[in-house]
Amino acid sequence: MTSEFQNDRCPCLSGDTYSECCGRFHSGAAVASTAEWLMRSRYSAFAMGDAPYLLSTWHPLVRPRTLQIDVGISWRRLDIVRTERGGMLDSEGTVEFIAHYRRDRVTRQQHEVSHFLKLDRCWYYEGALS
Ligand SMILES: [Zn+2]
Repeated sequence: MTSEFQNDRCPCLSGDTYSECCGRFHSGAAVASTAEWLMRSRYSAFAMGDAPYLLSTWHPLVRPRTLQIDVGISWRRLDIVRTERGGMLDSEGTVEFIAHYRRDRVTRQQHEVSHFLKLDRCWYYEGALS
């Protein structure tokens, strides 16, 4: 579904093209090696409406059965505020971020401290701490 976006800038605004950035994770060609990369790829998945990727990267113990992506939201920018642990040698970590979006012609922000856990070398979103 995402092939037409391969050469576009990645929605997470890393500066790389989609295929060299979060597209690798969405397609399964690569696995996010840090909590921040998983966070970025999940933001991009929201921006591109990739519900299967969002569900597959949710921690199995808290994963919802289905996910309805709000198509009225236009995701504009992701700011990573702070990360704690979540590196290649860690098994858990937190990422604080501000996601900017527009809905009903109003610009809004989602400010969250997300918690991530690693299982079998894969990072999973476990939920919000704030
Ligand atoms: Zn990206």
